[in-house]
Amino acid sequence: MAHGKDPSFLESVEYSFNRAANLLDLPPGLKEQIRECNSTYTVRFGVRMRGGIRTFTGYRAVHSEHMEPVKGGIRYDSRVNQDEVEALASLMTYKCAVVEAPFGGSKGGLCINPREYTAEEIETITRRFAFELIKRDLINPSQNVPAPDMGTGPREMAWIADQYMHMNTTDINSRACVTGKPLNVGGIQGRVEATGRGVQYALQEFFRHPKDQAKCGLEGTLEGKRVVVQGLGNVGYHAALFLSEEDGSKVTAIIEWDGAVIDDDGLNVDEVSHHIQSTGGIKGCPYGTYVKDGLSVLEKECDILIPAAIEAVITSENADRIKAPLIIEAANGPITAPADTILRRKGIVVIPDMYANAGGVTVSYFEWVKNLSHIRFGRMQRRQEEARGTLLVNELNRLFKKSNVPVSFSEQFVGKYLRGAGELELVRSGLDDTMRLAYQAISDVWRRREDVDDLRTAAYVVSIQRIAQSYQSIAL
Ligand code: NAD
Repeated sequence: MAHGKDPSFLESVEYSFNRAANLLDLPPGLKEQIRECNSTYTVRFGVRMRGGIRTFTGYRAVHSEHMEPVKGGIRYDSRVNQDEVEALASLMTYKCAVVEAPFGGSKGGLCINPREYTAEEIETITRRFAFELIKRDLINPSQNVPAPDMGTGPREMAWIADQYMHMNTTDINSRACVTGKPLNVGGIQGRVEATGRGVQYALQEFFRHPKDQAKCGLEGTLEGKRVVVQGLGNVGYHAALFLSEEDGSKVTAIIEWDGAVIDDDGLNVDEVSHHIQSTGGIKGCPYGTYVKDGLSVLEKECDILIPAAIEAVITSENADRIKAPLIIEAANGPITAPADTILRRKGIVVIPDMYANAGGVTVSYFEWVKNLSHIRFGRMQRRQEEARGTLLVNELNRLFKKSNVPVSFSEQFVGKYLRGAGELELVRSGLDDTMRLAYQAISDVWRRREDVDDLRTAAYVVSIQRIAQSYQSIAL
């Protein structure tokens, strides 16, 4: 997908890192220490299947261990390679620092097209891959905690957790060895939607900053804004769904690997998603107008462009033709470094990946804490909160009656006010708070520093400063 002249994913990440690090007064050598990937483990393993043995190649890169465990997803895709895994691992380091999740950065990947294998085969392959990583502590609750990424989900995480438990039968914290698990094996409510939800919260916060909006000529709220989404997988689906159903935005185009559909009046995200789920692609979708060349739809006029599929889809080849004033990088690395420069010159504002898609790792952090504390969030206080609320409402009603005040609370208010927060409400509240505070820190740097002219550099500045501080207290 990347344009021939563009740098690799890792080079693009390092370019953005250097741009920001060069603005900071760091002790000699620290910039390099932070930037370089600490280690990458490559494994080739055989799996007996279909009457023979198939060999698979997998990676687990650890970018920075300034905080442990290190954290980062495992991706299943036939394009996975060492450069990509290292780029993604370094992004994880910066991402965790931006949202103040106490982790270093890591990432894993397996070169495989999951569509070519049955569920049983994927389970065997996943368990074999996990075995190789677990025996080297590259999956471990206190050292390295994977999560889902492209091509993997709760199902794969459950197999990994089970594999770890088989190999570590006395580890009481074994469930914390991986996040993004299904609820019944120690997952947390709201994890599946978390990254898309985080994209929504990031946009809501951006639209609470009129001066930031003005930089790309947008104003008002998300209501009625035209949104183009690329990739209707986990992240893209949830972001598009929440923006259209809760914020009143209009999803005017959805781009998938085999084309795109367009409807200027707004697409129903669930309907399009059902079509993709049942047929494996967007082609033949009965809603909107089908366009074969999906990539060209990135250039469609809209207010917000959300690349949520793969890296390097906006390159030096097409950047000049992008018309969206605002791009939010729901995917990791969708814009190459040269394309980023072109977009900046055009006045297009980019909300960068390291912040925009950090909702996933944020809720993973909550899940890890839940697993270590062995208790569901809200379990102790929910009914107590409700009892206190009931006490207050009853007492006020008694006083109104006694003083002959002709007022009463509406049933709707009482219902909402008395409902104690369960796990999902607490997770969403924690995620919303995280996304707001992180944006405020980034936006503050963007506005206050004259040498910072974009949100990506601002996010790197925030992140590098925090990582540099942690390095001051560790032995090297
Ligand atoms: P996914 O596998 O659930 O979805 C990816 C979607 O993109 C699929 O619908 C796929 O068909 C589509 N796609 C693939 N190639 C495409 C192409 N060339 N053009 C258009 N569409 C294409 O993956 P996901 O988990 O949603 O991840 C998407 C991106 O978000 C990745 O960059 C990933 O690293 C990033 N991300 C994911 C999470 C998470 O929690 N899942 C967290 C942070 C970042």
